[in-house]
Amino acid sequence: MLTAPREAQAAARTLTPSVHEDGGGACRSNRALIALLGGTFDPVHFGHLRTALEVHDALACDELRLVPCSRPPHREMPVASARQRLEMLRLAVAGVPGFTVDEREIRRDGPSYMVDTLASLRTDCGDVSLCLIIGMDAFVSLDTWHEWRRLPELAHFLVVERPGVVPPEKGAVATLLAERCTNDLKNLRSESAGRIVIWSGTQLEISATAIRSIVADGRNPSFLLPNEVIRFINKEGLYIKR
Ligand code: ATP
Repeated sequence: MLTAPREAQAAARTLTPSVHEDGGGACRSNRALIALLGGTFDPVHFGHLRTALEVHDALACDELRLVPCSRPPHREMPVASARQRLEMLRLAVAGVPGFTVDEREIRRDGPSYMVDTLASLRTDCGDVSLCLIIGMDAFVSLDTWHEWRRLPELAHFLVVERPGVVPPEKGAVATLLAERCTNDLKNLRSESAGRIVIWSGTQLEISATAIRSIVADGRNPSFLLPNEVIRFINKEGLYIKR
């Protein structure tokens, strides 16, 4: 059975949302910190939103941006249009302090490469800390991403543990993890990019795939995603079998 590298295991043990720098408040320093959660969000659900909120609060993020992709490079095209996925995200974050939706991938032509997104954020935001939230399921194959070696130059990674997925033990991603893994959240502000934190928050086994299939079967998706998003899905007739 694969086991996590020692550094990653130590980080995973330490970094629960209850760990804070100052014994009650969350980690703080002068440099602004923007956390990013990219995805297809087809549709956005409480697995995404709960993770985003826990990270936002524990890191005392200045902003939490949800970044819907236009054309995902590693998977089939989403079922809902870009406009619909954007609207579902807007409904989901309405009134949530600190949460915003970043439309840059939707506005850009071509495949939605994360390296382009981070480079453009870096240009826009300057020397802030950028912290990319990514599921362990996606992180293990980071070396298949376009120009993946540039990614740690542009952002930190906050890798969210997912049920049944262990950190890589061998190969280029395992080496990157061993070199850059930290369990000190202060590093995410004292440096603007390049660190990796393994994050173990509340694990909700919710997937957009399961929600699409629930809706397609005519079953009720309540309590898996916000009611406003369910109302939008029903209004637009999304995900139903035709
Ligand atoms: P699908 O089922 O269509 O593949 P998904 O539910 O995995 O979709 P995505 O939009 O592809 O959602 O995921 C965006 C990001 O959110 C990825 O980094 C993914 O690892 C993470 N993520 C997805 N579901 C959860 C969840 N339940 N808890 C925490 N993170 C999640």
